[in-house]
Amino acid sequence: MSFLEQGDSASWPSPTMTTKSERTCGKWGAKASTGTRQDAVEEGEPPVLGEGPQSRAAAESTGLEATFPKATPLAQAAPSPWAGTPPTECDLLHPACAISAASSSTDDLELGIEFPVTAGWGYELEGLVEERPALCPSPKAPLLKLSWDDELLKPGAQVYMHFMQEHTCYDAMATSSKLVIFDTMLEIKKAFFALVANGVRAAPLWDSKKQSFVGMLTITDFILVLHRYYRSPLVQIYEIEEHKIETWREIYLQGFFKPLVSISPNDSLFEAVYTLIKNRIHRLPVLDPVSGNVLHILTHKRLLKFLHIFGSLLPQPSFLSRTIQDLGIGTFRDLAVVLETAPLLTALDIFVDRRVSALPVVNESGQVVGLYSRFDVIHLAAQKTYNHLDMSVGEALRQRTLCLEGVLSCQPHESLREIIDRIAREQVHRLVLVNETQHLLGVISLSDILQALVLSPAGIDALGA
Ligand code: ADP
Ligand code: ADP
Ligand code: AMP
Repeated sequence: MSFLEQGDSASWPSPTMTTKSERTCGKWGAKASTGTRQDAVEEGEPPVLGEGPQSRAAAESTGLEATFPKATPLAQAAPSPWAGTPPTECDLLHPACAISAASSSTDDLELGIEFPVTAGWGYELEGLVEERPALCPSPKAPLLKLSWDDELLKPGAQVYMHFMQEHTCYDAMATSSKLVIFDTMLEIKKAFFALVANGVRAAPLWDSKKQSFVGMLTITDFILVLHRYYRSPLVQIYEIEEHKIETWREIYLQGFFKPLVSISPNDSLFEAVYTLIKNRIHRLPVLDPVSGNVLHILTHKRLLKFLHIFGSLLPQPSFLSRTIQDLGIGTFRDLAVVLETAPLLTALDIFVDRRVSALPVVNESGQVVGLYSRFDVIHLAAQKTYNHLDMSVGEALRQRTLCLEGVLSCQPHESLREIIDRIAREQVHRLVLVNETQHLLGVISLSDILQALVLSPAGIDALGA
């Protein structure tokens, strides 16, 4: 019997709600199962152009283009959610049913739940890369900036920007995907265990007093909780056992409540990319403008996948053939890294201080030997080893049996097309840029690629802002 079954799951109260978007009542939920574009994103094949909801999207696109970017924060574009329409009973499933309700169509179902227990010691080597001379110039260096700007002046350079402006979030939503919602009264420990048990990376938070969605719970929040309350392997983190999500939010946010950042299915995918990057978040709930129900959670991965599939039907801009070194897409300076012998606590410190989504893991010679991502931290909840943050990062990577081995990387001479193909095929959030001796040169993340392909052609720098 796993720890997840030891008493907790059977007694989980209603605060854990699992829904499938196709079950969601209302206009968008009902239509979601008929779209051909969504099916194609799930199956990885381009559909016949002009079919299904896409026709409606194209018809609306002129207006969307004309109004973007909005003067008001995009996050507020979503309607007041759940106005008088709390979740119906048809949306609520017992957690035991939730696991069987998993759909193959979501991009969030890669999380395994069997992980071995680990322990170890180590230390950090942040700054290792900064001390070496930069091997690859910064994207902000004038020469490279000019090069990319020159590319953007060429005919066809705006093809992806237009494509994303002409399609809506509805087009990229899964026809059916699992959605786990937490009431803010749920205990945080149970919430993180429930993420693991349901194989999802994030859950919208429902405040039953306000009768609205008030935020998201993500793996970053798990990191923040551990970072704040962990003392030593010998001291139990009682806060994690006792606090409710609401209590944690009150303590952590101290009154500065960041509103839920959401988007409407009618909004363009361009706006979705902008909202994700501008707000430095990785989960964007799509809210039904009528019922306020969460229909889907968009991610950079889903958006890149959509662009990758349908981009193959579009004229290919010349910049795709240019090398990543020429284009300077990515981050090449002030890289946050962690030594393989560093303790996990050090990795968590860096995640919190630098707000990066992953750390290249390096050995004593500065060679990249792995990658530790925020996602990997949830394994500590799965293994119930969150009290062992003295374990080395290298050990944690070795224990990560169900995940990728080694590091997915690229080299400066590779073309942007090759890099996009690899990142889409491997379904990871970033590639690590290395030289032939495996020394770290940079990080190319989905945020960098979407910024470059979609926002830069519109003259918007959401990443640098
Ligand atoms: P992760 O990469 O771990 O999934 P994110 O980068 O999406 O996490 O989240 C960073 C922080 O922003 C977390 O505290 C999370 O709760 C919050 N957050 C994430 N998505 C949203 C959202 N759509 N609205 C409001 N807050 C969010
Ligand atoms: P998310 O879907 O939350 O963005 P990530 O892509 O960051 O997830 O990570 C998913 C898994 O893939 C993690 O186990 C992470 O360590 C691994 N991973 C991500 N990027 C790479 C990479 N470039 N090389 C090796 N493993 C990677
Ligand atoms: P992400 O959070 O991965 O979507 O990326 C947001 C920005 O942070 C992008 O410009 C990335 O290139 C950059 N980035 C990601 N990981 C690192 C890292 N380890 N060190 C420095 N920058 C990073």
